[in-house]
Amino acid sequence: MKIPKAMLETQNRSNPLSRSKLIGRCIVSCIFVFLTHLALSVIPRFFSAFSFLTQLALSALLLLLLLGFGGWCRRTLLRAKASAPAFVFFNILFIWGFYFSVIRPAVPQLHDVVFNCGVVFLFIGLYSIITSDPGIVTNGSASPDQPMESSLSQVDKEMELLASGLGHESTHDSGLLMRVRYCKTCKAYIKGLDHHCPAFGNCIGQNNHPLFLILLFGFISTEASYLVCSSVFAAKSRILDRPSELTLSESLAVSTILFTILQLLWQVVFLIWHIYCLCVNIRTDEWIKWKKYPEFQLVIPPEPGQSFRNIRFWNPYDKGMVQNVKEFLAIQH
Ligand SMILES: [Zn+2]
Repeated sequence: MKIPKAMLETQNRSNPLSRSKLIGRCIVSCIFVFLTHLALSVIPRFFSAFSFLTQLALSALLLLLLLGFGGWCRRTLLRAKASAPAFVFFNILFIWGFYFSVIRPAVPQLHDVVFNCGVVFLFIGLYSIITSDPGIVTNGSASPDQPMESSLSQVDKEMELLASGLGHESTHDSGLLMRVRYCKTCKAYIKGLDHHCPAFGNCIGQNNHPLFLILLFGFISTEASYLVCSSVFAAKSRILDRPSELTLSESLAVSTILFTILQLLWQVVFLIWHIYCLCVNIRTDEWIKWKKYPEFQLVIPPEPGQSFRNIRFWNPYDKGMVQNVKEFLAIQH
């Protein structure tokens, strides 16, 4: 089955924010980044008697509290939304600025070059993924001025038609089309939707999935590089030997280490999960919402005496690890 000609690959973003709203959200995100790091610096300063692991757990707790506080402020006090991609951007900028002003003089040249290259890569990668087309499917006949709802309803009808005829198809094209999923946040159909990533403010789909994995790996390696650099600084300045006399910048050095370790931990788990999903040929959205997609449901007939049917998960796309990875790489071309 071929993709209908009317369905063209074009950018179909939901209404973009006005310039003033965008600037407002960036300012809120920037302030939130500063407050987060200042709050985290309290832990090594006032809880220095605790072990490093306890300080790590306290930092995780404080981050969760700040996240909850940020959400509460947004709903009640300020009614001003922060932008998650701007938060990620300012966070990298904060760590980079702190590195230049405090950590860098103590770091050997090779480590310095590796870390700075990592940060530059992150900025380029962040820009690329935020502006990338994940594989949006729109009705080509719809004019740009046409209301979103009417354009969507047409795509809806085509999707229903496709879904009804796809059950019996097994060609490459049909496999591709079956995995067109709807993203509620973007209000768009995405080819090979993996998930909507709030941190990058974009869907991760067929077109930008490899970029997402490379960027995730970039974050992990740059954070690991920061940990190496800040450990060199900590060893040279002996801040861990005199925890009760830390200045603000030294407390920030320890708190950014704690923050980076926490980031690193969840990102490594996230990357491993993504690689596993890729190896068994399932998208993370499909994994979480498999009960929503009929092709993942294996109906077990009721046994004698049973009145209900059992529904089990099975993955019709899994063709073995090597074939799955080959297919994933081939789809990008
Ligand atoms: Zn989305």
